[in-house]
Amino acid sequence: MEADLKSDKSALRVQPPQPVAKAPRELAPKPRTSRKRLSRQAYIDGILRGERTVLARAITLVESTRADDVELARDVLEACLPNTGNSLRVGITGVPGAGKSTLIEALGLHLTRERGEKVAVLAVDPSSQISGGSILGDKTRMEALGMDEAAFIRPSPAGRSLGGVARRTRETMLLCEAAGYRNIIVETVGVGQSETAVRSMVDFFLLLVLTGAGDELQGMKRGVMEMADLVAVNKADGGNHERAARTRLELESALHFFPLPQTGWIPRAVTCSAQNRHGIAELWTLVREHAELLKAKGWWDRIRRQQVKSWMDEIIAQELERRFREHPAVRARLAEVEKDVLEGRTSSFRAAYRLLDWYAGKF
Ligand code: GDP
Repeated sequence: MEADLKSDKSALRVQPPQPVAKAPRELAPKPRTSRKRLSRQAYIDGILRGERTVLARAITLVESTRADDVELARDVLEACLPNTGNSLRVGITGVPGAGKSTLIEALGLHLTRERGEKVAVLAVDPSSQISGGSILGDKTRMEALGMDEAAFIRPSPAGRSLGGVARRTRETMLLCEAAGYRNIIVETVGVGQSETAVRSMVDFFLLLVLTGAGDELQGMKRGVMEMADLVAVNKADGGNHERAARTRLELESALHFFPLPQTGWIPRAVTCSAQNRHGIAELWTLVREHAELLKAKGWWDRIRRQQVKSWMDEIIAQELERRFREHPAVRARLAEVEKDVLEGRTSSFRAAYRLLDWYAGKF
């Protein structure tokens, strides 16, 4: 099977085994659907053996919206499920420029090089609009980590998703777990809803901020702070140490105003320098301490069950929407009804209910 894969150029474009500096693996073009599919068993065997090309193709398969792909993806996922769950799932959020990708690279290298562990990163693709690609230019992200054999980086095109949380991030995470990745890092950019989505699929949620975060506290970050298990003030280096320490104190006292999580974990604030790799090991120690505390107090299983329930809710919502939009009666009239709404001939309310009635077969 290896030989087959190597001759398959489209698969290699998804995750080239030897990325070069100018075209790292994560920025390589990806086919939108899996044009050349493997057999169900080939996907499963490849994933369970931890073969990265097969994993990448399986992710492409679960991202596909083609009806036959959807069915095969479901089969593959079902078969992989018994091998999932055995990882630390960490969500990282912060505004563009906060240093997320620098931090993820530092954390990833800490895991692979110092701890000898595998890490999968589900990252925001900087070339897409929401992540601020235009602000940050064409910098290459996580280049060193991208070259590391123990790391798997999967970009999600933020343009097609919510703050980098792809429609299939949860499924992607499970496939990575089945492929033996014991640490999963999910990145998102500061778009409220995407953070809620990521929060519902991870064990630990880290908010990365910069000095002067006091301003952010007054805005949208309040809600995100409330979800965070840890707030890290990045770029505590150069002449920025003192300001970072002050911001950390402000944040720490702000955190006290939120209701304490039931788990008994006390969210805290730390400083770090992703660039100089300072505070990275300490940060990961907190992630592990959090997991141990939750396991000791019986919260771990509960949280995991909650994640499974959120997944079910998500599947129902996505599947209902898909079925609704594909229903012949809806498809035949949707454009016309939308036009009526846009031109003020009917209310959104009436239009939505009429479409839903058509979908339900009631006229
Ligand atoms: P992201 O948009 O949140 O992923 O942020 P990046 O990781 O791309 O970082 C944005 C900019 O901040 C880049 O120019 C980084 O080199 C820089 N940066 C990231 N972390 C640090 C840090 O710890 N210290 C300093 N001084 N700069 C950093």
